[in-house]
Amino acid sequence: MKALVYNKDFKNKIELKETDDPKILDPKDAIIKVEVSSICTSDLHIIEGFVPRAKNNIALGHEFSGTVIETGSEVQKIKKGDRVSVNCITFCNECFFCKKGFINNCEKGGWDLGCTINGGHAEFARIPYADSSLNKIPDNLSFENALFVGDILSSGYFASKMIEIKKGDNIAIIGAGPVGLCSMVTSRILGAKKITVIDINQKRLEFALNKGFCDYIINPLIDNVEEKTKELTNKRGFDGVIEAAGGDNTFELSYKIARANSIIGVVAMYENNQILPLPNMYGKNLTFKTGGVDAIYCDELLNLISKGIISTDFLITKKFKFNDILEAYKLFKNKKDDDLKFAIYH
Ligand SMILES: [Zn+2]
Ligand SMILES: [Zn+2]
Repeated sequence: MKALVYNKDFKNKIELKETDDPKILDPKDAIIKVEVSSICTSDLHIIEGFVPRAKNNIALGHEFSGTVIETGSEVQKIKKGDRVSVNCITFCNECFFCKKGFINNCEKGGWDLGCTINGGHAEFARIPYADSSLNKIPDNLSFENALFVGDILSSGYFASKMIEIKKGDNIAIIGAGPVGLCSMVTSRILGAKKITVIDINQKRLEFALNKGFCDYIINPLIDNVEEKTKELTNKRGFDGVIEAAGGDNTFELSYKIARANSIIGVVAMYENNQILPLPNMYGKNLTFKTGGVDAIYCDELLNLISKGIISTDFLITKKFKFNDILEAYKLFKNKKDDDLKFAIYH
């Protein structure tokens, strides 16, 4: 089969090449025919050498949906022929962490697909622990409709849950990229009444506002963020803040604009350490939560999409055939302000 293989010794680090078809290696495995996949910034991080756990010479890709073509002898829930979305986290569902819902720290899994084992930028993929790592796509949805369920939509929802939104809350989301946009959509469902979005990318801000995903936008390059925050919150600060940007000063911003006694959910990835100036914030009584996504709500999210309550189709700004995936990677790396996610059809 053809796969997009990452190898640090390749001239351009990635090549679309012939590889062996995947085989069932464990009775809990399933093999799927990949139908649609997407490129994630984490794929670029692997290529750039920023992911220490990534293995060399593997097929990239951890955002995809497909059709099950074979299952191992111990797979029960998932059947051959099922249309499935793939969880970016491979998890056993029976270890100490999985039993508590902390699947990101599964003792036998974690972010494996397209990182430590072959992923979904291929014609076929082997999915370990198929019964937990795959979710059936409802009949009324396409592979494309379900494409982001197992990664960025889950991440957005995870962020929204982190800040424990109460009905009527006035929250802020830093970062209007794909995860930020997904958390705007899911924060509404959880009861946020007012959503303010902060980003330096004016096009993304206006996109979010025009789509109705948020109520107010703040661009730190144009606006005084602290003044605007006072204006929008009766001088109190936001009832919850999601930090999904990972910029040089966005962590600092997150606790500055938060109301006393609120929760700050940090889902951003940083290139540098961040400082927590505890003496300055003494008495503000903040709660910080950090995290890589525990993507345990995939069925719930698929159900919400199926009922038309949410949709992530707006994220797809370009479409490619699998044979053109190298071109897609090139464009994704140098993507323009108004580009969000690409869909690759296999
Ligand atoms: Zn990802
Ligand atoms: Zn586990």
